[in-house]
Amino acid sequence: MILAPDSAAPALELREVHRSYGKVAAATGLELSVRSGELVTIIGPSGCGKSTLLRLIAGLERPDAGAITIAGKVAADRRNFKQPEHRQVGLVFQDHALFPNLSVAGNIAFGLQKVPASSRRARVAEVLELVRLSHLAERYPHELSGGEQQRVALARALAPNPAVVLLDEPFSSLDETLRARVRGDVEAVLRSTGTTAILVTHDQTEALSFGDRVVVMRNGRIEQAGAPEEVFENPASRFVATFMGDADFLSAEFSDGQLHCELGRLPGSWPDAAQQLEVVLRPHEVSLSADEHGNATVISSEYRGAFTLHHVRLASGQSVHSLQMHPARFAPGQRVAARISQGTTPTVLRGGERSAGTISPSAPVLDAPSDARKSITAP
Ligand code: ADP
Repeated sequence: MILAPDSAAPALELREVHRSYGKVAAATGLELSVRSGELVTIIGPSGCGKSTLLRLIAGLERPDAGAITIAGKVAADRRNFKQPEHRQVGLVFQDHALFPNLSVAGNIAFGLQKVPASSRRARVAEVLELVRLSHLAERYPHELSGGEQQRVALARALAPNPAVVLLDEPFSSLDETLRARVRGDVEAVLRSTGTTAILVTHDQTEALSFGDRVVVMRNGRIEQAGAPEEVFENPASRFVATFMGDADFLSAEFSDGQLHCELGRLPGSWPDAAQQLEVVLRPHEVSLSADEHGNATVISSEYRGAFTLHHVRLASGQSVHSLQMHPARFAPGQRVAARISQGTTPTVLRGGERSAGTISPSAPVLDAPSDARKSITAP
């Protein structure tokens, strides 16, 4: 299956790409198709193969099997292997990797050596303007802030007009406040130039907020690739649900064609199934109200400014978290009624995987808007 968002010629395509280091399979059967101008984030736990994937695309690693195509040209397959400098790929690293002995303009011009001097100067000026650093052209890297250095690194990567820009944890050396701003700046530049980019991150917020598609990796494989909303709201597995944010899992059972968990009936109408099922609930999908005969007891309450996070125990011993606006605050030991928040259609897992195929919304969804059906539809 090629995960293409549309039928336009992809800027980048990986087909059945494998790469092992001895017994470690760092990339197993990777399939990915990235359309021109698309911004894709790659996320997964340490050691899952994110860097290997970037290195394979950049040409710093050779696949053991499979094919990589960049801008319609084969970069690597069984017979061919293009060196990094011939791949039309731009790289931006976490540590900026600027040449300390070259000025900002010199750093950017470095990748333009094949371009005639007159056009080179014009191109340097152009990309400097793009990243709003024209006034710093003659400075040296040590005279720049971290955010400015990262914008120079981006300008340097963009200068040769690459088919794809690869960004390897580019914001992780920046402090929290600067990070969000530089991330916004970088995204704006990539969007305004229609650049195709792949960004590796270990930060969930970054993965969800930057770009069009999130690719979640695990053990050298792509576990799920989809729009940020899809990956967060409709995780393909227990692993993705847990990795992309906080989640609780409640067992679910059928009765009378309805699916029930301890917080009540789930929206939708379901064909019966004997398998062990679980409902994925994120804290914002559970609401609490004061009720001395309620189904839950508060274990703890954590004030988080605009929100309060409650942890509650249910009669069965299972527990769930609830994140609500801060006026809803309950003390430990208090009895409350816990429900699935209005308008939520939680994902249902079977054997740790999003249930699909046999469990389909065959009858009208009862309690949820019709587009909420997607969370229980086969992918
Ligand atoms: P990530 O970037 O997600 O942390 P990597 O792609 O760096 O993961 O690594 C994937 C797996 O391959 C890990 O188990 C790592 O130890 C292994 N690995 C990566 N590069 C090498 C190498 N040059 N030699 C041996 N093993 C490697």
